[in-house]
Amino acid sequence: MRLTVLGCYAATPRTLTNPTSQILEINNHMVLIDCGEGTQVELRRHKIKFSRINHIFISHLHGDHFFGLPGFISTMRLLGREKELHVYGPKGIKEAITLLLKLGDSWTNYPLLFHELSSKESELVFEDAKISVTTIPLDHRIYTNGYLFREKVGKRKLNIATAEEYGIDKAYYQNIKNGKDITLDNGEIIANSELTFDPPKPKSYAFCSDTIYDESLAAKIKDVDVLYHESTFLESEAELATKTKHATAMQAAKVAKVANVKTLVLGHYSTRYKSIELFKEEASTIFENVLLADDGKSFDF
Ligand SMILES: [Zn+2]
Ligand SMILES: [Zn+2]
Repeated sequence: MRLTVLGCYAATPRTLTNPTSQILEINNHMVLIDCGEGTQVELRRHKIKFSRINHIFISHLHGDHFFGLPGFISTMRLLGREKELHVYGPKGIKEAITLLLKLGDSWTNYPLLFHELSSKESELVFEDAKISVTTIPLDHRIYTNGYLFREKVGKRKLNIATAEEYGIDKAYYQNIKNGKDITLDNGEIIANSELTFDPPKPKSYAFCSDTIYDESLAAKIKDVDVLYHESTFLESEAELATKTKHATAMQAAKVAKVANVKTLVLGHYSTRYKSIELFKEEASTIFENVLLADDGKSFDF
């Protein structure tokens, strides 16, 4: 699982910082999470092919999380995209994008499919053989969801050395990978567990964009491998955080601790602070494994 941060700063694009946008590569899927201004430029900078993105998940309709989306959709048209593009986001996102396409008389020549969300409960929004995606309802100034991405358990891996020791014909290898036991010519049954290795443990990633500090969030993301939690402010601005329905680095760490996640990634920093290292220092007093998102940074989990 690989996370590439295209932008992770709050509020407005600046000379050296971009608003929220991330690419998550998970079990052969490449999804775009939020699409602030600058997303296209950063995708090009990282040589990420636009055509590999088929699913876009938007947390909420504040500009710093979706003002890059109309441009991205429009560029896909210019690049001659034919494949479906799925956009998940709050109710209203279809109207917003459609109005822009209509005014510019620039309808897409590829199927653009909106999946509008309005539930205040967590819901499954995408699932296939490889991954599932569920919403994480958040408490922000407007309707907002985070997203929880989970890999599905893969197939068991063949233990070729053991299979050869038993003299099992290669023709049965696919059956073994599919979980079947094997009966040898002498009638002996070899259990599948002896002929295979456990598949890798499926990974999970919780993206929690803008949200007020809410410890009940922990129950929804229990034991995930990686939690991205916003930390717009430091604890010295805790009052302002509550007022604007954002969180501090320390609050993000508290959620990570209660949820028992493996790794906490901080982001959505206010640019008022001298260094983002301050966010890590503060969160590390509560939670051990803290990483700092930064524009252009990739993490392999
Ligand atoms: Zn924001
Ligand atoms: Zn917001």
